[in-house]
Amino acid sequence: MKVALVGIGKIAVDQHVPAIVASPDWELAATISRQGTVAGVPAFTDFAAFLAARPDVPMVSLCLPPVPRYDYARAALLADRHVMLEKPPGATLAEVQDLCDIAAARGLTLFATWHSRMAHGVAPARAWLSGRRVTRAHITWREDVRKWHPGQDWVFEPGGMGVFDPGINALSILTAILPMPVHLIGAVLEYPGNRATPIAARLTFSGAVSADFDWRQQGPQTWDIEVETDDGALSLRHGGAVLETSGGLKSAGPDREYRALYARMAELVRAGASDVDLTPMIHLADALSLGRRVQTEPFQF
Ligand code: NAP
Repeated sequence: MKVALVGIGKIAVDQHVPAIVASPDWELAATISRQGTVAGVPAFTDFAAFLAARPDVPMVSLCLPPVPRYDYARAALLADRHVMLEKPPGATLAEVQDLCDIAAARGLTLFATWHSRMAHGVAPARAWLSGRRVTRAHITWREDVRKWHPGQDWVFEPGGMGVFDPGINALSILTAILPMPVHLIGAVLEYPGNRATPIAARLTFSGAVSADFDWRQQGPQTWDIEVETDDGALSLRHGGAVLETSGGLKSAGPDREYRALYARMAELVRAGASDVDLTPMIHLADALSLGRRVQTEPFQF
């Protein structure tokens, strides 16, 4: 099946293009980006022009930042294309709900991807925790924004989510593996004096679950989740790639997250189904709603 990639920037180049090239299901038939291109692939700079010129491409994968994404997704669905969304699926919950309604009304596939849920250790962690009682869980998600978002000012603009841009990956894993639902009960959010989104956040959830997100980490990066239960403990490290349990279970594997996303999208299109789970974004919205705002040092890239 043909796919068009929209927004040729960091994640499109790092992950989407290699995953599509390796996919048995998808052929990269076009790109749409104001500046970015992929060698050897027909390139458009205007999305409406692409939709008019290429009715042969049934699916678009949107790699744009969250704020402009809704307009592209809506236009694509109204032009009868299946749509795959990068995470977080939109700038607001209501706009993603609107996309769900349009996709359902037109019988199209909408896939709100959570790439971290495809990390090697996530499915076995969910299986291990199923049937156990969680007594405590803690997320440590600390990375260097300059390394992962070099010069990307949009992450600090309204809708860019700040440290929740990576933090929502942790929330997507947490909500996939816990055997019980949780809800946010408190948060402290650190905003640089010159920015509109938080650079660090500490979250407290029901069920003794907590999270520490920080974008100022230099040196080794930390993407860990520790879970204690009435029957042993579990660690998910390196963004979900490595799983260890107190009972001696160890599991690690190569990064195939984006390949798995494109395989899932092919499955959904063939089945005429959609997959949109907004739970991680609900927690993010709750943190912004309930969080206490603290001002911190100004930040420059
Ligand atoms: P990016 O490189 O800043 O943006 C991707 C491309 O989108 C840009 O190169 C730009 O291409 C286009 N674009 C940006 N703003 C636009 C606007 N206002 N209107 C139209 N097009 C616009 O961002 P990214 O790091 O790839 O992140 C994109 C999405 O992927 C985010 O939701 C992010 O959370 C997710 N993601 C990122 C990473 C990562 O490591 N960076 C990892 C996983 C997921 P043109 O200028 O050519 O139009």
